[in-house]
Amino acid sequence: MDPLARTAYVEAGARFADVIPKAAPHGLAPLNGSAPHVGVVAYTLGGGLALLGRSHGYAADRVRAMDVVTADGRLRHVTVESDPDLYWALLGGRDNFGIVIGMEFGLVPVARLYGGALFFDARQVPGVLDGYRRWTATVPTEMNSSAALIPVPDDPQVPEPMRGRLAVVNPLSPTTVEDAHAFLDRLFGDLQPWTAGRSSTSWATAATPTAAASAPPTPPRTTNG
Ligand SMILES: Cc1cc2nc3c(=O)[nH]c(=O)nc-3n(C[C@H](O)[C@H](O)[C@H](O)COP(=O)(O)OP(=O)(O)OC[C@H]3O[C@@H](n4cnc5c(N)ncnc54)[C@H](O)[C@@H]3O)c2cc1C
Repeated sequence: MDPLARTAYVEAGARFADVIPKAAPHGLAPLNGSAPHVGVVAYTLGGGLALLGRSHGYAADRVRAMDVVTADGRLRHVTVESDPDLYWALLGGRDNFGIVIGMEFGLVPVARLYGGALFFDARQVPGVLDGYRRWTATVPTEMNSSAALIPVPDDPQVPEPMRGRLAVVNPLSPTTVEDAHAFLDRLFGDLQPWTAGRSSTSWATAATPTAAASAPPTPPRTTNG
């Protein structure tokens, strides 16, 4: 990692969980997706639709160079200048053009961010999706978010408050806490989330699955910290 140049180099096999904690102390982050255990190289070769994609774009657009073994057995150091066609084809074409053994890419500045998850009852889904669509058109590009319909089974193994519910919206923003609160309060008008966990935290903490998994359900409209 080169914090001054804001770049990182990974070998094939590295996961975002390897990169995020090394970048965070420098106030930097990779453009990772929703799962830290996903491999950096394959994710990026597929385009890389990032959690911070609205504000920072696709991960593939941050790639500076790739070390690639092509079908003729040659090891090539591929940049946009050295092999523009191969560089273009790999970033999006993924596995049809060679084995990428290492990749250098740019990091983005992320000191802190504010985010969480809003859980809604299944009966509210049509209104929530409509409200979410309208909301995304009004917030600035720094406000990244996603909406997912995740059926949670009505099963004794699931914590009681979550059984038979849906997780819907994940706002995530490197704005100030005050701004984030204001954006969230505008989010759904009369629709109240069943439960909302909100926190201001570092990118490394937010992107670590154990932190998210251990966050306890909180009462509606409650600030976690
Ligand atoms: C839980 C989860 C969440 C996800 N979230 C997102 C997200 O938010 N945004 C997003 O864009 N994507 C997301 N994805 C999709 C993910 O980016 C792709 O599935 C990616 O291909 C996973 O790569 P892998 O290395 O983990 O898997 P692998 O199965 O190891 O690799 C997938 C394929 O990539 C190719 N490949 C792997 N390594 C190389 C290499 N070194 N050189 C050339 N080709 C190679 C191969 O064809 C391989 O079959 C998610 C996937 C999961 C499972």
